[in-house]
Amino acid sequence: MLHALQPLSPDPPLSLERHRHKKQLGQHFLHDTTVIDRIILALQPQPEDRLVEIGPGGGALTFPLLRQMGRLQVIEFDRDLIEPLRQRAASIGALEVVHADVLDVDLCALSAGAPLRLVGNLPYNISTPILFHVLDHARCIRDMVFMLQKEVVDRMAAAPGGKDYGRLTVMLQAVADVQPLFVVPPEAFDPPPKVDSAIVRVVPRADLAARIGSDSRFDEVVRHAFAQRRKTLRNALSKLATAAQIEASGIDPSLRAEAVAVERFIDLGNALARDSHA
Ligand code: SAM
Repeated sequence: MLHALQPLSPDPPLSLERHRHKKQLGQHFLHDTTVIDRIILALQPQPEDRLVEIGPGGGALTFPLLRQMGRLQVIEFDRDLIEPLRQRAASIGALEVVHADVLDVDLCALSAGAPLRLVGNLPYNISTPILFHVLDHARCIRDMVFMLQKEVVDRMAAAPGGKDYGRLTVMLQAVADVQPLFVVPPEAFDPPPKVDSAIVRVVPRADLAARIGSDSRFDEVVRHAFAQRRKTLRNALSKLATAAQIEASGIDPSLRAEAVAVERFIDLGNALARDSHA
């Protein structure tokens, strides 16, 4: 109910007239307050949450979140933004700015035992590596609400049978629930990106992850299956499995990877791990 929303916070982002947006850091800063409010409503932050924002930029999400939470950790790579973020935050709440490449940050070390909640309008140029990085830390993460290119969200949430269904889909859906929330047009950002964006919620599920007997074998199967996605699985997986092993996991070896359900990849990875130990 977009029209019924009340603005949640009076905290505007930094005024960055002299900041040159860095294309190589995917800097498209949100300025649409309705979108900012909808992201925060989707997140439903609670004061006791251990919340981490990836890529605060000018603080469009940061300052309203900090106002609500009282404290917040953020990870920002652009050194020019670190001091302005700290200075503005000082009158609002306790902002801990981690100046780092998020891909180098051990998220489990940040969680200090409490499951993390992640939020971020992610730099699109490295959104897939960030998703794999957070997946590596899924055991420490309660949930995440991210803005990404819509095309990436379509791939994350895809069902088998189409071009969007790929390695990212299978690796994510094997261990997490993926829920696309809403689409955001380019005009919501400064400068506007060339593509539509979308918000997605991802909730890691330990019960799903527990089905995977060997992470490395599962990863290997999925990587090979989608490396040349026009090949049949018999050919794509020829270095890893015989046609009989593929069939024994309930998969027709003459299919392509995009036709195979997530669970069957898990079964095949488990069977290969068992066979290699037999
Ligand atoms: N959250 C702000 C907003 O919504 O307006 C900025 C979002 S902008 C799309 C992405 C942000 O991620 C930028 O502030 C950029 O400097 C930062 N960033 C880019 N690469 C990063 C990295 N490897 N690690 C941490 N932050 C990064």
